Amino acid sequence: MQDCIFCKIIKGEIPCYKIYEDDYVLAFLDIAKDVYGHILVLPKTHCKNILHVEEKTLNRVISAVKKISNHLVDNCGFDGVNILNNSEKGALVKHLHFHIIPRHDEDGLKVFPEFSGVDCDLGEVCEKLKIKEEVIDIVPTQKVVLYTDGACSGNPGLGGFGAILLHNGKQKIVSGGEENTTNNRMELMAVIRGLEAIKIPCEVDIYSDSAYVVNAFLQNWIGSWQAKGWKTAGGGDVLNIDLWKRLLIQVNKHKVSWHKVKGHADNELNNACDELARKEIDKLRN
Ligand code: 5GP
Ligand code: ZN
Repeated sequence: MQDCIFCKIIKGEIPCYKIYEDDYVLAFLDIAKDVYGHILVLPKTHCKNILHVEEKTLNRVISAVKKISNHLVDNCGFDGVNILNNSEKGALVKHLHFHIIPRHDEDGLKVFPEFSGVDCDLGEVCEKLKIKEEVIDIVPTQKVVLYTDGACSGNPGLGGFGAILLHNGKQKIVSGGEENTTNNRMELMAVIRGLEAIKIPCEVDIYSDSAYVVNAFLQNWIGSWQAKGWKTAGGGDVLNIDLWKRLLIQVNKHKVSWHKVKGHADNELNNACDELARKEIDKLRN
């Protein structure tokens, strides 16, 4: 915005005392000199206020507020902070910003306004103001990548499965083995146990080389089986119902995307899962 004073500061047209900067956020000292260390934290792209900001931008700004606040307490000798924001009401500058007011225990500041009180029934207020439908998703979605593979020595025979979960740059490994099982059951178990290791609803990208598992979802065989009371198109019983049901419970918890990968090819993590599965078979042999 051309005449926005904070946009001018961001562009360097007006100087400021910079406290923190990254690709998306700028923080600088408030010019007012009303409180020692009064800091403003704002997104580098113009947006009016918290009512209009995009979720991702807000998350970045709030993360920076936390980072700076921790720095003030950990490294600058403050005891805590107050965070203030004006949206529409009372804002002088119409570019989203949070005020950080660094605090000392005995500084005597009254940062939180002293209101005159209101005569009301909290139950009625709650009924009027509460969000009746879950229309606001304030929890940013967590993304997980799940690689899986199952293997069997003999079919049926000794089986093993392996799953590798990737989340926020970290890896978690799950593996196990069973006697007298099948390749398909182990492929299913790999996905089930991988998903069972995820404790909150997430967006999960599942990579498997099992056409049996992946196509059941991508081609909605599973929907047809359920509609027919777990019978196949030919009228026979669906095999491995126990595992399909266990898998469905997990799949319904998350937002899952299925990806079929080529088995025993150059996919490093698929190969790593295959190795985990084979090691489990070896454990059962020995
Ligand atoms: P608001 O009332 O909009 O929440 O707060 C705006 C803040 O921006 C005020 O505290 C004011 O002192 C600060 N401010 C206004 N113009 C400038 C400026 O040019 N430079 C800096 N550093 N702060 C400013
Ligand atoms: Zn602006």
